[in-house]
Amino acid sequence: MSNLDPLLERNRAFEATGAYVGLAIMPRQPVFVVTCLDPRVDPAAFLGLDLGDAAVVRNAGGRVTEAVIDDIAFISYTIGMMISDGPLFEAAIIHHTGCGTGFLADPGFRRGFAARTGLDESVLADEAVIDPEQTVAADVKRLLASPKVSDRITAAGYVYDVDTGLVRMTVPPDRPRPA
Ligand SMILES: [Zn+2]
Repeated sequence: MSNLDPLLERNRAFEATGAYVGLAIMPRQPVFVVTCLDPRVDPAAFLGLDLGDAAVVRNAGGRVTEAVIDDIAFISYTIGMMISDGPLFEAAIIHHTGCGTGFLADPGFRRGFAARTGLDESVLADEAVIDPEQTVAADVKRLLASPKVSDRITAAGYVYDVDTGLVRMTVPPDRPRPA
């Protein structure tokens, strides 16, 4: 028995739909979504993404970490090989209200977690999303400054409100400019 068992039932229902047949590896929407792993923050639901629509990376907070930059660099390089010129996609960085990374702003929580994992306390403090508008702006800036990322992409910042269900743009799309 596995906790996945009831979901494997859903998988059999999915298989029966045939929704996966003939999909291309190229995303249908020219978008690369970075957002939080919070179960309330599923872009398939709040952006209506269908299978094959877009690449999505989710982590705690939807933060632009070096690993996320590497993924965006990889996808921009790969798609850049397939499309010889013109824009590739927009990296849409979406932070949200009520983010669980906010626990990291609590010194007691942060100290305990740092002790448990050996992670650096000041790094953990920077991971907290308290003001999503502020953190998403910092993350878009970080992505745009990375020399790893193709200058044929754009990056933009958004905030998803878990109480209203609405996404609003807070940082308009911009092109990478190495710092
Ligand atoms: Zn979150």
